[in-house]
Amino acid sequence: MNDLSATDRCVKCGLCLPHCPTFALTGNEADSPRGRISLMQALGKNDLQWSPGLFLHLDRCLHCGACEAMCPSRVPFGRLMDTARAVIEPRRKRSLMNRLVRNTGLWLVTSPAGIRVLGKLLVVYQKTGLQSLLGWVPLLPATARRLNRLLPVMQPAGTKEAPINSSYRRRPASNSLKPLDSGIRQNDGKRINQSFPDKHRGEVGLFGSCMGSTFDQLTLSAARQLLQRLGYRVSSPARHACCGALHQHNGAPNTARQLADMIPGIFSDRNTPILVTASGCTAHLLDYKTLYPDTPAATFAERVSDIMHFLLESGRGDMQFAEPEQKVAVYIPCTHRNNLKQHQDVMDVLKWIPGPEPVLINPDGGCCGAAGSYMLSQPELSERLSNPVVERILESGAGLVLTTNIGCSIQLQAALKQRAAAVEVLHPVVLLERLLYVVP
Ligand code: SF4
Ligand code: SF4
Repeated sequence: MNDLSATDRCVKCGLCLPHCPTFALTGNEADSPRGRISLMQALGKNDLQWSPGLFLHLDRCLHCGACEAMCPSRVPFGRLMDTARAVIEPRRKRSLMNRLVRNTGLWLVTSPAGIRVLGKLLVVYQKTGLQSLLGWVPLLPATARRLNRLLPVMQPAGTKEAPINSSYRRRPASNSLKPLDSGIRQNDGKRINQSFPDKHRGEVGLFGSCMGSTFDQLTLSAARQLLQRLGYRVSSPARHACCGALHQHNGAPNTARQLADMIPGIFSDRNTPILVTASGCTAHLLDYKTLYPDTPAATFAERVSDIMHFLLESGRGDMQFAEPEQKVAVYIPCTHRNNLKQHQDVMDVLKWIPGPEPVLINPDGGCCGAAGSYMLSQPELSERLSNPVVERILESGAGLVLTTNIGCSIQLQAALKQRAAAVEVLHPVVLLERLLYVVP
């Protein structure tokens, strides 16, 4: 578990440095992949003072995968960072607030009852105006203030409609449609699409994830409706599940392993494809094959697919979409680009929507600073990373931003709200479902 020997594969060429978002911010070698590998090598040889400085440079890593994706020596940087964090975790001295937030967060995502209660409490917290009120309380600890600011608009369980603050008009009138002209099956000249498909393409499982089932019911509902419209029967897990990514990347690999061991049991059918709507969770579930080879978790991972990839493979069938009324931009999360390497799938599926091509906010990569718990543990760097992304969104003139990871969505929503920008952040499947033409 504590093997850091793969750091020796690093030849210190420095080719990864220009791709590292934290090195670009601080210019400090210790905040670069090469610098961090040197720190890990010293750590492996027990050659280091256990100092807050050491922790800081390792903590500042986003786990974004940009360095690993382009490293010619194939240094498994993500795996090494997980190991290094597990090694240093027992040596840390955390403040009371830090410990409270970390331990509560890590416990909550593993607890089905806890996360259900939290979701309900947060709905009340927002509806009663307590969230806005708390924002005005002076001397509120910085972490609590940031948590309060990051909290997205809560969607009660079973949500099917857009959030209350959405200005988007749902279901365009049929006369505003721009029908696509090739390869679309028209039944009788009047009914271009049916409400329900006449064929069944099999069953798929929809993986809710801990964060998704609490903060993103809208995406899960839209994914379900799109899949059903394509002819799939959609099953949900018998119980809430957490993939373990947060634990794995935050120095708690044993809990991550326990969570992975429970995952195969959550879907009753043992053969259905499992579709995931958060790219961070997809990446970690797929990683089970390497992390836990020859286990039921690894077998489960063989069935996992990101929803956008699945939709592209599946094809749009006879679905038709209206043109959006607002300009659309896309922000690709690090996990979709560097880990899944399927960012083009997102853009290709969006070609189903007529009208101008969406603006890609980060064609050359980069990170919005969400990075799992990073947006809470490294608030200053996280904000500095999100600022240029938000600037580019505002410059694009888009009224909608699409992104495929729940963490990025929360981070961008909060940053845009802080600037009073009327820009909605959605998963692409939500826009697809909103624009889907259904004949009444
Ligand atoms: S991690 Fe890879 S790209 Fe970066 S310095 Fe080492 S060998 Fe070069
Ligand atoms: S994972 Fe990302 S932040 Fe961490 S060293 Fe690599 S490029 Fe830099």
